[in-house]
Amino acid sequence: MSTQKEPPEQATDEDESPIATARRQLERAAEHLDLSEGMLEQLRHPSKTVEVSVPIHRTDGSVEVFNGYRVQHFEVRGPYKGGMRYHPSVSAEECTALAMLMTWKCAVMDLPFGGAKGGIVVDPSTLDAQETEQLTRRFAEELREVVGPTKDIPAPDMGTDEQTVAWFMDAYSMQEGETVPGIVTGKPTAVGGTHGREEAPGRSVAIVAREALDYYDGSVEGATVAVQGFGAVGANAARLLDSWGASVVAVSDVDGGIYDESGLDIESISADGDEHGQLGAVDAPRQLSNAELLELDVDVLIPAAVGNVLTEENAADVQASIIVEGANGPTTTAADTVFEERNIPVIPDILANAGGVTVSYFEWLQHINRRSWSREEVNDELEAEMLDAWEALQAEVEDRDVTWRTAAYIVALSRIGDAMNARGLWP
Ligand code: GLU
Repeated sequence: MSTQKEPPEQATDEDESPIATARRQLERAAEHLDLSEGMLEQLRHPSKTVEVSVPIHRTDGSVEVFNGYRVQHFEVRGPYKGGMRYHPSVSAEECTALAMLMTWKCAVMDLPFGGAKGGIVVDPSTLDAQETEQLTRRFAEELREVVGPTKDIPAPDMGTDEQTVAWFMDAYSMQEGETVPGIVTGKPTAVGGTHGREEAPGRSVAIVAREALDYYDGSVEGATVAVQGFGAVGANAARLLDSWGASVVAVSDVDGGIYDESGLDIESISADGDEHGQLGAVDAPRQLSNAELLELDVDVLIPAAVGNVLTEENAADVQASIIVEGANGPTTTAADTVFEERNIPVIPDILANAGGVTVSYFEWLQHINRRSWSREEVNDELEAEMLDAWEALQAEVEDRDVTWRTAAYIVALSRIGDAMNARGLWP
């Protein structure tokens, strides 16, 4: 295991890499706040970057070594929290950007956590179940010194799921000599997972879409919605909005989408999980590409697939009245500027999909209290937390005349700044 600390580079305006975007957004929000340069300097750096080698026996008998990372960004408000992803794009830099996002996301939601992110550079579809299990167990062992239920609590993210974190928890627990359910969140309910965790990011997206429609004098009843990405986030957001009376006219997966101007029968469409191409088999009046979906004339557009899909190239052609970010980082900074000029509100990822980490927090609380909550309790608490956060952002939007994204950063950074002032810098 090695630890390293890279000095951050100054982000240029053209660079749309996740780390450049994360740093630029930090600088932009800081302009509105009274944070000292010293505080900002601390926030630009992750506290710790851990890089590990994760060797496994492949099923064919060979040994393969994968690279894994855990980046812990900032813990002034509490233990580190964030997902672990298995994806070929994983790097120290990408984990740093996503860990920073987690720090802001937790602060926006007023959760007592700091941000972290980790992962392994691997395409999980090239591994069988046994190889994935080995990889996860060895990863847990390599990270054992830096994670812990009051230190750093991983969760599922891209390419990982409740089974992955269950293996992680088992490996950690076996080595510690006791069952430690609080080491991860997003677990199966059979081993202390909470109800409602999987659908939580989609639920928070739907809640803020409803609030945004209401705020801009619309109503969820009859609102037209297009959703890019029909995985856990997109599918759950679409189902909930549909059940509240919205008309979901288009959804897509990685291969393309379907469109029905009178509204799709959302309940009958299964979410894609990690399998692709299912939407192509659904009977719908029109097939459309992912690019076309982003330019539909709808009340709400929800990009809930991957990052950087709304760019300088297509921002001028987007016809939606409101954008709600289901994915992490779907809008580039250049596109954000275009939407601001065109008065299209963008409800940012660090609020919209924060239902995931919020319900992770509820799961963690359930371990501490040794009491499980009903699904209804989880959903009610999530609704209340989302409304509190929405109101905090709304106050900043109105007082300072800023975008919803800048408002979210202002809310997050002022809470973090207060904590830094209260704790001071040691030694
Ligand atoms: N990976 C999720 C996110 O990006 C959730 C992290 C967590 O629950 O800790 O928000």
